[in-house]
Amino acid sequence: MRIYNPLEKFGLKDTVAAFSARLDGNMSLSYGDTRDSLENRKAFLSAIGIDYRWLACAKQVHGKNIEYITEEQKGSGALDYDSSISDTDGFITDKKNIPLAVLTADCLSIFVYDPARPAIAILHAGWRGTEKNVAGEGVRKMGERFSSKPKELLVGFGPSIRSCCFEVEKDFKSNFPFGLVERGGRIFMDIALINREQLKTSGVKAENILDPELCTFSQNKDFFSFRKEAESAGRMISVIMLK
Ligand SMILES: [Zn+2]
Repeated sequence: MRIYNPLEKFGLKDTVAAFSARLDGNMSLSYGDTRDSLENRKAFLSAIGIDYRWLACAKQVHGKNIEYITEEQKGSGALDYDSSISDTDGFITDKKNIPLAVLTADCLSIFVYDPARPAIAILHAGWRGTEKNVAGEGVRKMGERFSSKPKELLVGFGPSIRSCCFEVEKDFKSNFPFGLVERGGRIFMDIALINREQLKTSGVKAENILDPELCTFSQNKDFFSFRKEAESAGRMISVIMLK
């Protein structure tokens, strides 16, 4: 098992943050082969000091609704998909020992930490969420709920499909003024770059955004990719918790 910690360089003492890889198995209770998913979660999360029964998970819909999570929602979606929190693509909390999770296979996961409160967020940004600026919404929500100052926020990205591999339709040009790359008459989207720019526009400092630059499609042996594997694709878990 290799534990990827997207916030590692910040040296945070009071926070656990990690994303899983293919090796750790499917973490979804609704997509791909789910037979071992609970056992996979248990093994991966216990290795980073998280009880898998505490997880807060979402029924992700590629929107920008972000929920504030307290003890009441702890464990939602931890043991079955149906109890996941509906219509949500991000979580924020300032409560300890509540692991916030999103599940991805190509979409970008965004980890946010506010050292002042402290408070945390996890966000799910595919192209649709990116179009809706879910990253900016996360920053706004942390400001509203925790008085977080954007310039103090520390951000890390998970793995995602990247501009090397993410071909999109030509009409994306009208929806994304930047972050599209043309190669050989084809259009490719740079989800990570667009989210980075959105975060900067929201006031997050460029040097406070860490990007491991991992592509789920070209590094498919290490990560699940929906583009590559279609319906059989499992999901990686991205999780963050204040301890
Ligand atoms: Zn790639």
